[in-house]
Amino acid sequence: MIRRGLALLLALLLCGALAFADAALPDAEQPDAAEAEENAGEPSEEEAPRPAKGYVLVSTSTQTGWLPLPEEGEYSYHLKQTMPDGTEVENVIHLTPDGVYMEDSTCENHDCVEQGEVTLENREERILSNMIICLPNQVWLQLFTPEEVLEMVQEQQSAG
Ligand SMILES: [Zn+2]
Repeated sequence: MIRRGLALLLALLLCGALAFADAALPDAEQPDAAEAEENAGEPSEEEAPRPAKGYVLVSTSTQTGWLPLPEEGEYSYHLKQTMPDGTEVENVIHLTPDGVYMEDSTCENHDCVEQGEVTLENREERILSNMIICLPNQVWLQLFTPEEVLEMVQEQQSAG
């Protein structure tokens, strides 16, 4: 039951709070969401949405959003920003079933690309822990487990 509660909460989170990801992935297939709609009105234990293995919190100086790790396959998310001085910058965030890395970036030092992949397995050992940081473009990536995301949401709700 705890597992199911978690899945439902995450589903709500995904529907309500992931405008960032929705806007970012117009072509991404969302079979789970489509199925859930078709089957609305006949809830069943088996059709409860499954949480992703991990979620990436993407933060810039002006916005934040969540990107779920794909269940299978990989995808890239192109984060484009206009900096305060008017320059256009872009970071390409690559998500795999296990983790996330910065595939490419318009920043000059490419530190973010060299920080490699964060996975749920290696984040304890990395110097930057669960983070990938692009300082020039002001982009922070952090990888969390579904349980950690849930905790953050609950904290936010109790604080609000
Ligand atoms: Zn960078």
